Amino acid sequence: MPPARRAEELVTRGITALKQWSERHAAADRVTLRVSEVRAVLETLEVARQEVVALNGPPTRDHIPAALRRQVERLAGYRCEGCATDLSAEDADRHIDHIIPVARFGVTRLDNLQLLCGPCNLRKGAAV
Ligand SMILES: [Zn+2]
Repeated sequence: MPPARRAEELVTRGITALKQWSERHAAADRVTLRVSEVRAVLETLEVARQEVVALNGPPTRDHIPAALRRQVERLAGYRCEGCATDLSAEDADRHIDHIIPVARFGVTRLDNLQLLCGPCNLRKGAAV
């Protein structure tokens, strides 16, 4: 099963377990939680979270999935789209920039992303 499909299934299973639990106790005003029940749900959700992180990389500030970042870098030929600086070095200061900023409802999609060097990104940030 692909990781995304499996993560989705695990999250669904966690939600289903919580729903069943709340239905079982719907009539009760107060309930005693069994640690083992809570732990089982948490473990299911944690496994799903780890699989999503493994798939997309850890979330970044703009939540640009790692695969999408790599696609933007590749399409730009590993050059800054502002000043054409070569950013192909392993440790180059690469910034994936939203052309229309997120703050102005720009979307995280290939056609709204560009590769910038640090100075161009700073310049753009100041202009926006
Ligand atoms: Zn630049």
